[in-house]
Amino acid sequence: MKLTPMMEQYMKIKSKHKDAILLFRLGDFYEAFFDDAKIVSEKLDIVLTQRQGAPMAGVPYHALNTYLKRLVQLGYKVAICDQVEDPATAKGLVRREVTRIVTPGTLLEEELLEGSLNNYLVAVCKQDDRYTVAGADVSTGETFWTSLNDLDELCDLLKSIGASQILYEPSLKGQLEDRFTNNIVLEPLQDWHLNRANIDQDIAQALNVAIVDHLELSEGRLAFAALVRYIRYTLMSEQIFLKPPRLLRSDDYVFLDASTIEQLGLLMKNGQTSLFDVLNFTRTSMGARLLKQWLLQPLRDRGKIEWRLNKVEALVKDQLLHNELTEYLAAVKDLQRILGRLEYNKATVKDLVHIRSTLSVCPAIKMAMQTNEAFDDMSNLDCIEDLHDELNRALQEEPSMNVGEGNVIKVGYDAELDELRNLVFNAEDFLKQIEQREKMRTGISNLRIGYNEVFGYYIEITKSNLSRVPKEYIRKQTLVNSERFITEELKQLEEKIITAKEKLEKREKELFNDLCSKVRKNSTRLAKLADVLSTLDVLCSLATAAVRHNYVRPSFSDGELVLKNSRHPIVETKVEGFVPNDLTLDEKNSFVVLTGPNMSGKSTFVRQIGLIAVMAQMGSFVPAEQAILPIFDRIFAKMGVRDDVVAGRSTFLTEMNEVAKIVYHATKDSLVLLDEVGRGTSTFDGISIAWAVSEYIHNKISCKCVFATHFTELTELANLYEGVLNKTVQVAEEGSTIVFLHKVVDGVADKVYGIEVAQIAGLPREIVDRAREVLETISEKSELENRLRVVSTERLKKIKRRKVHPDQSTLW
Ligand code: ADP
Repeated sequence: MKLTPMMEQYMKIKSKHKDAILLFRLGDFYEAFFDDAKIVSEKLDIVLTQRQGAPMAGVPYHALNTYLKRLVQLGYKVAICDQVEDPATAKGLVRREVTRIVTPGTLLEEELLEGSLNNYLVAVCKQDDRYTVAGADVSTGETFWTSLNDLDELCDLLKSIGASQILYEPSLKGQLEDRFTNNIVLEPLQDWHLNRANIDQDIAQALNVAIVDHLELSEGRLAFAALVRYIRYTLMSEQIFLKPPRLLRSDDYVFLDASTIEQLGLLMKNGQTSLFDVLNFTRTSMGARLLKQWLLQPLRDRGKIEWRLNKVEALVKDQLLHNELTEYLAAVKDLQRILGRLEYNKATVKDLVHIRSTLSVCPAIKMAMQTNEAFDDMSNLDCIEDLHDELNRALQEEPSMNVGEGNVIKVGYDAELDELRNLVFNAEDFLKQIEQREKMRTGISNLRIGYNEVFGYYIEITKSNLSRVPKEYIRKQTLVNSERFITEELKQLEEKIITAKEKLEKREKELFNDLCSKVRKNSTRLAKLADVLSTLDVLCSLATAAVRHNYVRPSFSDGELVLKNSRHPIVETKVEGFVPNDLTLDEKNSFVVLTGPNMSGKSTFVRQIGLIAVMAQMGSFVPAEQAILPIFDRIFAKMGVRDDVVAGRSTFLTEMNEVAKIVYHATKDSLVLLDEVGRGTSTFDGISIAWAVSEYIHNKISCKCVFATHFTELTELANLYEGVLNKTVQVAEEGSTIVFLHKVVDGVADKVYGIEVAQIAGLPREIVDRAREVLETISEKSELENRLRVVSTERLKKIKRRKVHPDQSTLW
């Protein structure tokens, strides 16, 4: 089949973008053809049509972002092919080029992004035996890098920061692909991304610096360069704008792996309330994103934590200031993302209006902060008044969102624009004046000025008045009852109006672009301001949470942990009458075996300790009457048996793998929280593993650990080791049923109460009664409990005899 020139053009462009859906601008539509059309039609519910035998589906150009969002969310890469010359003046076929490749990790447009989430694109490379990772949120320019030698940890990191797209060195394909679910898009890097020539130049250009040495990117350079090249390619722009990278997971932060984040419920999952929800009273998208960062990267530097806590405390005590700031912050817009769009010439009128409105509340924020000395080091805010004045002078109060129609720039800002606008907007008046004058001059009272496409403005005279038509009128058209004339004057006016419209559009666009450049010149100052405002927003949010939920300021020790009347920050918002609990640990007494029946509150208690530690180290007040904590280097939570369907591993294997990670990585300064470890196998194996893990943690790692278990046998560890404490969650028996008191006390659970719990859970009476009968028989006949006791006592004796504890090699 012979292709038309346009289809030939399409095929040529498509051949360069085989891995993307190509949206090809045709008139007012972006069209997809062939297989792309089928996908677009199916996924976006758009009618599939035909053009010259080719399947075709299109979306209107003005609604492009809406459709793009859906395609990108589904994980597609979309190449946008635009007309790059004016169709009106083009000779022959309009030139078309791909102007942008949209991928989940390279979004800039407000409509495509989630305000409260960072959107990270990440590149992973392998060098020698280490994995290096570089990442960027293209919309804000933030970047980071890190290097790790453990692939599991790497995947944990990528999951925990919430990368939306991962680029990887092709050799890592097999290792990475089966570790991620569908909602993260994975893409192999190509040779040219990984080319070792010009690495430093590419990085320097993207970061807008002369040399990269001082950035200490060291082994992260290749991954960072690959990232830069990918972004340049997708944005189709030689110049991109990234901020200097931050080294992640340095000693500054507590590293929380993906499973700990999930187990503690730090971020929302499956619609369940998370710690983020409980603490999030931010008023800005920037604040919400920063709160998430603080939450996922608790600090380890005491000075920095106290800096945050001092501010939160000041706000808690100074309600007036707190209220004022909260109110002002509501007017603050997403400066970071607006700056991102400005750099790529994608800023809209709305963006500039938002900068103006943000700048207009800054002096009030500054003044408010100056009233409290706790904010001395923040209140020296640069409110960028010069830029605010300029925007005020330039932008209308409520400008139109379309540049070029004369409704964006204020009157008085630019004389040329005013004149053109005058002409265009007042054209009607001019015409009315001419009509009036001609009526008077000719004495024809029904003389009328009209307009048509063919010969523009005309004067219409009815037949009965034709004798009075002045001779300079030029006849153009005869109708049944009238004739139409034009005049030299009308023609001139018409030309003036049309050119004025064109000039107006050009001039307003020019002025808008100038204004954008003026804002861009201030981008460093604006970025600083954005940092202060988002920090302030998070501090206010934490203060609000502290007041609303009745939290207390934590203090820090060199090893001791004292929690008085502490609560679970999430569960306490869900249940009435939450029972607070205490816990005291120190360097010596550092290991708790927590027993109690199902549903008594073991998991809640264990999680609550982890959550309080995270909150304290992120700079938040905590749910307790008193809280003294050591500063932890890492926090691990391993809770129950989880299905790890993605990795296709058995649950027991996953469980053991997670425990292995903990014992390898935990140090004396870590917090380890275990719940029901050893459940995924037979009882004897389970007890033995739980026992050995406990010993190892207590003896070798010596970190703070709370181990919730229904293996009461583990409580015997306390007889063997001084530092092991037995605690149990109290229940009261009431007849044949039990009442959960949720109180954690010293001691051992005397009964498992499985049948009572089953009864409470609603198992039919008949089954419950029968179960009691069976239990009695089993207890008599097999003495299961006694046998278990013998097993553990044997083990105990053996260990006592050896006087040494199993070392790592025998355990793992
Ligand atoms: P377990 O781990 O012992 O099976 P959970 O910690 O899952 O028990 O707690 C079961 C339920 O008991 C929780 O969902 C919560 O509603 C309630 N609960 C737990 N701890 C408390 C508490 N301290 N005060 C009030 N209710 C609690």
